Amino acid sequence: MVATPLQVIVGPRPALFREIVDGFEDGVYLVDPARRITYWNRGAERLTGYSAGEVIGHCCADNLLVHVNDCGEVLCRTGCPLAATMQGGKPIEAQIYLHHKDGHRVPVRVRATPMRDDHGHIIGAVETFSDVSDQLAIQQRLDDLRRLAMLDEVTGLANRRYLEIALRARLEEHQRYGSLLGLIFADVDNFKAVNDKLGHPTGDRVLQMVARTLTATSRPFDLVGRFGGEEFVVIVVNVDRRRLLQIAERYRSLVEQSKLKLAGGLFGVTISAGITLATRRDTVESLVQRADALMYLSKAKGRNQVTADPA
Ligand code: GH3
Ligand code: MG
Ligand code: MG
Repeated sequence: MVATPLQVIVGPRPALFREIVDGFEDGVYLVDPARRITYWNRGAERLTGYSAGEVIGHCCADNLLVHVNDCGEVLCRTGCPLAATMQGGKPIEAQIYLHHKDGHRVPVRVRATPMRDDHGHIIGAVETFSDVSDQLAIQQRLDDLRRLAMLDEVTGLANRRYLEIALRARLEEHQRYGSLLGLIFADVDNFKAVNDKLGHPTGDRVLQMVARTLTATSRPFDLVGRFGGEEFVVIVVNVDRRRLLQIAERYRSLVEQSKLKLAGGLFGVTISAGITLATRRDTVESLVQRADALMYLSKAKGRNQVTADPA
């Protein structure tokens, strides 16, 4: 009888195997040659929001993890690390964004390795993945801010008050020491229609999904906040114009790739953004106004795009 991937890797003592692998911080899962999931540890449940019962037996591309790369390209058909490792027979490492059950994107480092039987035939693959968004440090900072009433109730992000305080401080640094500073102003497209169609509570869940995608994929020293309504601001430090444009484009495409699971199917929104670099003459107000005006240019051009000030 041919051993299944699970039997090969689990060995004679499955309970012990589970106890060990469930203790890992990392997500670990196994697939058979058709990429059907045969094992899913607790780390994978924690990082993705999906329980083992929800995923075992499904193909990893079945609207589950839907890995995307930095450019927002879906990897299931062309760049799946599991397919590549089974085809090439070699381990593969990549940094990608997986889809959390709540809809947002989580940046993870994945390692896919083929599994072989005693004759060297590939009988499946194992993927391990770890969260690279430094959740613990973020959580501690959030607890402090909650106490100081600097966080928005709906999304848990920095609120407008906090954004303005932080921006004032960064702007002073820029004007005193010349450190580069960029601002992204993003507004959810056609959000009124989302509320009208799905109701305000679902609208809130959409805002939460956008907020999570923005924070989970931001660099630890940048600050993402909710400026008001369906408007988000990101304060980006140490960037030039080209890099700021890349960062804003990444946010735009990852929001576009974020999907909320509703009774009627998957639901997503897009954002329009304006981006600008601080100058020596800027005030907090002039900087925000400029990014806001550029955001409106993105709306006028058809939405779901980023507009930078002229080079
Ligand atoms: P555009 O693409 O031009 O930005 O169109 P829009 O519909 O997004 O813009 P508009 O300013 O007309 O509508 C914004 C909507 O956002 C209206 C308001 O009800 C909704 N909104 C603001 N704050 C919240 C909130 O906290 N929760 C929810 N669910 N909706 C909100
Ligand atoms: Mg809007
Ligand atoms: Mg708006």
